[in-house]
Amino acid sequence: MAETLSHRMADAATPGEEHALAVLEDAFARFDRIAISFSGAEDVVLIDLAARLVEDVPVFCLDTGRLHAETYRFLEAVRGHYPVELEVLSPDAGDLARLVREKGLFSFFRDGHGECCAIRKIEPLRRRLAGLDAWITGQRADQSVTRADRPVEQDDLAFSTSTHAIVKFNPLSAWTGADVWDYIRRRDVPYNPLHDRGFRSIGCEPCSRPVGPHQHEREGRWWWENPADKECGLHAQNVAPIRIVNG
Ligand code: SF4
Repeated sequence: MAETLSHRMADAATPGEEHALAVLEDAFARFDRIAISFSGAEDVVLIDLAARLVEDVPVFCLDTGRLHAETYRFLEAVRGHYPVELEVLSPDAGDLARLVREKGLFSFFRDGHGECCAIRKIEPLRRRLAGLDAWITGQRADQSVTRADRPVEQDDLAFSTSTHAIVKFNPLSAWTGADVWDYIRRRDVPYNPLHDRGFRSIGCEPCSRPVGPHQHEREGRWWWENPADKECGLHAQNVAPIRIVNG
């Protein structure tokens, strides 16, 4: 891992920014096998923060095959804007072919999103995490009922095994959506242009839609399902007990 540069924390503009930088600096200092999970939306704030601390920021992104064209272009814009090692992960071709052959391309509207997300997101993530000891996410407590009280560091009970413990860092846990957008504008951070068309939470094209100014951002995701079930499995332990390492 590249050298950490703690003195760069001195230019933090807000307490939240300073806290997030401290969490990231600690994470990069403790783990060599660590990477940022980048969803292609406002998670770019994590990359901007990390780029102030380390060189060649390790980043991976889950390409489900169903992302918006704007998101793919945005990924490449981020690759060109920051010193990142951006790894794009794809689903297992055999599992995907079986799902589409047996259930078609829109089974999630009928059967719920769990099966499709398991193939397009969870399996590639599990494969990647097998080679890491820690990962960093952009989860915020105010994003949904399943993300309230997210600690900044936790044992990842969903992806750890009996022989391989994995830690998950959530440096933006205490940030609000307004904090994120203040940071993006203040530091001129690139963002997904879909946000300017009313999308506030951006995932796959069929499962994301714009929301109104008085709607919660997660109302734009899997709107046909119960809010308490709105996790894709990346953060499955949000709907189960967790062990907090550092709140
Ligand atoms: S968000 Fe929708 S399209 Fe994307 S993996 Fe999940 S169910 Fe499939």
